[in-house]
Amino acid sequence: AKRDGQNNIRFYDPAVQAQLESRTELERDLRLAIEREEFVLVYQMQVDSQGRAIGAEALIRWQHATRGFVSPGTFIPLAEETGLIVPIGTWVLHAACEQLVMWQAAAHTKDLVLAVNVSAKQFQQPNFVDEVANALELSGASPHKLKLELTESTVIGKVEDTIARMHQLKALGISFAMDDFGTGYSSLQYLKRLPLDQIKIDQSFVRDLHQDEDDMAIVETIIAMGRSLGLNVIAEGVETMEHWRYLNEHQCHAYQGYYFCKPVAAEEMAKHCLAPPPV
Ligand code: C2E
Ligand code: CA
Ligand code: CA
Ligand code: CA
Repeated sequence: AKRDGQNNIRFYDPAVQAQLESRTELERDLRLAIEREEFVLVYQMQVDSQGRAIGAEALIRWQHATRGFVSPGTFIPLAEETGLIVPIGTWVLHAACEQLVMWQAAAHTKDLVLAVNVSAKQFQQPNFVDEVANALELSGASPHKLKLELTESTVIGKVEDTIARMHQLKALGISFAMDDFGTGYSSLQYLKRLPLDQIKIDQSFVRDLHQDEDDMAIVETIIAMGRSLGLNVIAEGVETMEHWRYLNEHQCHAYQGYYFCKPVAAEEMAKHCLAPPPV
């Protein structure tokens, strides 16, 4: 430890220092990633109770020249902290809409609904509705095939604004899913007021479903609640036949997970739509 001019003790921890530097560098690279065209979208199929493809979730990937693949779990939180999520999110919207148009042109993919993740900070931008309308208009994608996935963090503290904005987007024809349902802290009072179409059971409740009675109770409760509120319920993180069977028996509406398909390039996803559903 060392005393600086203000007589404050400062610690020089090489590990902390290295972490700060790598964070700064990562932020610099992230800033350049859009213009360097280092982002791509991959798609994970969503299926109905018969295992037929009904849609997909767009998931961003960052392929950096020297860092290689950087996981969204690493760079999305940094993008949110730095505000870079706003331009990145806009890029995602445009790329997703362009993909939708391509799917709309082929018979076996024309009905797919594409779900796009939206960060709280992105959603709260004053021009967010215009950005979405713009992406739809430029691409020619059908708003009825676009679904936005929000998290509870979008809603916290800004319920009235969120509701108003969601209604504006719904007027365009867009639908909404509440992502990671059950992991946040917002009350059901708030949630019941949101014009949602779907809730997405978080994968943490699905993972140990066949052996954890608490998870079974939670999943059943979410499905029942969705049903009584008139919401579609999708489960994410469906990895095994046991998961799929259990959820299906309890009349979940839709499913997403490695059991059906990993997140893959668009062309591969389209091929999966032609493959017979798992038994
Ligand atoms: P998320 O929205 O909850 O996305 C689901 C994550 O679970 C994805 O991780 C997906 O690859 C993974 N997953 C799918 N099926 C399974 C399964 O059966 N088992 C397990 N264990 N995992 C499964 P990914 O692609 O690494 O994305 C992580 C998170 O990064 C996302 O979580 C989302 O919060 C964020 N993210 C990804 N793309 C975007 C984006 O375009 N915009 C924003 N704002 N966030 C994004
Ligand atoms: Ca999601
Ligand atoms: Ca999720
Ligand atoms: Ca337990």
